Amino acid sequence: MNEREVVVRCRNVHKRFGALEVLKGVDLDLHKGEVIVIFGRSGSGKSTLLRCVNFLEDPTEGTIEAAGMTLTGGHRTTRKRSQIRQLRLKVGMVFQQFNLFPHMTVLDNLMVAPLLVKGTDKAELRQRSLDLLDSVGLADKADEHPIRLSGGQQQRVAIARALAMRPEVMLFDEPTSALDPELTGEVLSVMKRLATEFHMPMMVVTHEMGFAREVSDRMAFFHEGKILEQGPPDQIFNHTEHPETRAFLDAVL
Ligand code: ADP
Ligand code: MG
Repeated sequence: MNEREVVVRCRNVHKRFGALEVLKGVDLDLHKGEVIVIFGRSGSGKSTLLRCVNFLEDPTEGTIEAAGMTLTGGHRTTRKRSQIRQLRLKVGMVFQQFNLFPHMTVLDNLMVAPLLVKGTDKAELRQRSLDLLDSVGLADKADEHPIRLSGGQQQRVAIARALAMRPEVMLFDEPTSALDPELTGEVLSVMKRLATEFHMPMMVVTHEMGFAREVSDRMAFFHEGKILEQGPPDQIFNHTEHPETRAFLDAVL
């Protein structure tokens, strides 16, 4: 049988900030249609790994394969800069803080980045953006400014904005952590639909264990800059043999 197609492959990824080694050799594959939940203590390196996957940070060492490109750590050459620009077009990212452009309408937030890509048809993009807003339940907010929206609505706009680039993979860094508890459900349900109906490959850093159990194919426990353990939710929740994983789960469940 063929190996399932890999969308993101991290190999021996290291990241140092001066003397501080934050990633200590991470190996992680994301396959087509797969959802991986990454969890672990604050400061264990989860955000740094996601930032390395789309080269918001350059790994100190190791390789990242994504969207058909292979990039190595270390300094940036001209060729690597151009590859990073290409890779970012294919790798969507959603942050804890929604980072919407406050001076633009919701619709313009979706359209601004795709319009910078050569050959984009504005009318077609506009329709596609309106369809995306509809699919995250915000068709009636196209002409609003972000400040007029709730946190949950703003985060759904941020997801639609990332999707407007037609990414091949989506990275989520604690997308519900800044939300009031009653607003997390609407964001998680958009993410769930993205996984189940659209089969978007996703790497999701979250402590929403209900989402992990229900939606993820695989969970990876991050501990001191490494993946200590990974496996399907049933293995992680019910059969972990690692005391660190167990202790963490006991604390968050
Ligand atoms: P997590 O997302 O798991 O909470 P992070 O990846 O944000 O962890 O951070 C891991 C460690 O790396 C922390 O000790 C943090 O202070 C450090 N760190 C992250 N980014 C930087 C940076 N740009 N410069 C220096 N240290 C950083
Ligand atoms: Mg983080």
